[in-house]
Amino acid sequence: MLANLQYTGCTVNFKSTTVSYKVHDRVQNPQEEWQIVPNTQEAIIDMETFLRVQEIRSHRRRHTSTGRTSIFTSKMFCGDCGSKMYFCAAKSVPEDREFFRCSEYKENKGSCSIHYIRESVVRQAVTKTVKKVVKYVTEFEPVFLYLYAKKHSEDMLINIRETKSRTQQARKRIEELDRLIMRVYEDHALGNLSESRYSMMATNYEAEQAKLREQIEADESALANAEKSTINLRAFLKAIRQCTDFEELDEKTVNTLISKIEVFKKERIDGKYHIPIKIHFTAVGIINIPDEKEILSIMEEIRNNPKLLKTA
Ligand SMILES: [Zn+2]
Repeated sequence: MLANLQYTGCTVNFKSTTVSYKVHDRVQNPQEEWQIVPNTQEAIIDMETFLRVQEIRSHRRRHTSTGRTSIFTSKMFCGDCGSKMYFCAAKSVPEDREFFRCSEYKENKGSCSIHYIRESVVRQAVTKTVKKVVKYVTEFEPVFLYLYAKKHSEDMLINIRETKSRTQQARKRIEELDRLIMRVYEDHALGNLSESRYSMMATNYEAEQAKLREQIEADESALANAEKSTINLRAFLKAIRQCTDFEELDEKTVNTLISKIEVFKKERIDGKYHIPIKIHFTAVGIINIPDEKEILSIMEEIRNNPKLLKTA
């Protein structure tokens, strides 16, 4: 339904190279994005801060020999091999020419090509995209939430409900098994159950309990992840609202809004090089901005199906 937007020619820092960046209709890790509850504005600042600090700590920046760093360093990944991209700021490289390259590139001896992209090009592409996303989300928040909910929340809510009920049943069964184990023990002690029969039954019951405990543990961690992404979506919306008149990207905005920037191999289109970039936003992944016509038709859809927006 939504066309991919591709902007070309956003920056020309050296003659024949432009950057093209795409905003795709694709979301990363849908499992981690279970359940969204926007517009519920409880005090969640401590949890938000905690999550953000964890996020920053998990991607400590690599310092260059010049001591210069980039606000994008921890977010930069090679789109083709998935490796991190190194920020290169040698003394011989002037500040406006600092660049990123794939960490798997080693003067043609590594397993990947260079994926060279200037920091200033990344900065301009990300600034432009963030401005567009901020404008879209603030002006058409119901549309944004509706599209997000349509894609995820129905399945996710069903998943959460099923997971919770499975966990409850597993706990009941574990208790029942405890009683059964006790009963066979008593029967055995009273001489009503042979040693071999008792040992077989007790072993089976205990094995079933161990399996159920494993399942509960997995389900609980999936539910915790779902709750974490609810908080992340709220943090994302809040950060977007605070960005309405930003001019320059700073580290805090980048860390709050962006989870990952992927840089792909350059493509030659009409004699010019384009470097495709994908920008993944926290909690929501890649954002596809609908055009005016699509927005109107989505608003009509919301009027006809307001329930879905409420479940979001
Ligand atoms: Zn690579």
